[in-house]
Amino acid sequence: MSHATSTRVQQHIGDPVSGKPPVPQAKLEEIFKDIQSDLRYDHELNGCLNCGICTATCPAAHYYDFSPREIVQLLWTENLEGVYDAMQEKIWACAQCYTCAARCPFGNSPGGLVMLMRETAIKHGMQSAKNVLRPFSRVMLKLISTGNQLSPDMITRDHFPDWGPNVSKIDAPLKLLRQAIPMPTLNTTATAWEVNLKTSIELYTIWEETGVLKQLETIDENLFDVITDIMDEKREDWKDFLADQDDQGGKDE
Ligand code: SF4
Ligand code: SF4
Repeated sequence: MSHATSTRVQQHIGDPVSGKPPVPQAKLEEIFKDIQSDLRYDHELNGCLNCGICTATCPAAHYYDFSPREIVQLLWTENLEGVYDAMQEKIWACAQCYTCAARCPFGNSPGGLVMLMRETAIKHGMQSAKNVLRPFSRVMLKLISTGNQLSPDMITRDHFPDWGPNVSKIDAPLKLLRQAIPMPTLNTTATAWEVNLKTSIELYTIWEETGVLKQLETIDENLFDVITDIMDEKREDWKDFLADQDDQGGKDE
């Protein structure tokens, strides 16, 4: 699917590159232009006073070595190496809460710009993107195969060590507790709820057309293979279902 692009893509980027860029200048420019050419870039970067209001209100800046002001300045001044460097670690600290966007006097959205940088990191198969997304492979597999992002059987001490002692409140006899829920579709711990086959097939089309699957392939080829197998099976199931419906219709006539 082709997307419209931003109006701000330049022919020449004049930022000086140090004597030892981490990757060749051409690669730095390619990455920067990918960020800059996204349609959202026009809306999310309008200038920068360097006032720091975004950083002052940013929860991620409070806990990590991360500053939305710095990210916006790197983009605004077209600091190609700085942008590349921020994509190695810093951009993954953002919580995507958009407090910054609500506060910026220029109407910038630093959180939105971080999202563009993350998408570009995935597109270029950067190691930082692979490292950050690897722990979510089970979530992605679950999402594709069941339509649910998180199912009750995934809520365990092992999967959520960062929840501390609170996880024990949830790490309960879930199978038993779920049977007590009146709706049969919720009497399972393997899915949060059952997504019907037609909806799953429609989701596959959306993920294909929007490039999500392509991105997944860049980041984790093995997971991509497993997921495409599941998708093929479900598509076959859907075809069989439709054929059964046709047969049934023929018999009824
Ligand atoms: S992005 Fe906005 S809030 Fe942040 S430093 Fe620039 S002008 Fe200030
Ligand atoms: S969206 Fe990201 S950069 Fe903006 S305030 Fe939230 S955590 Fe900070």
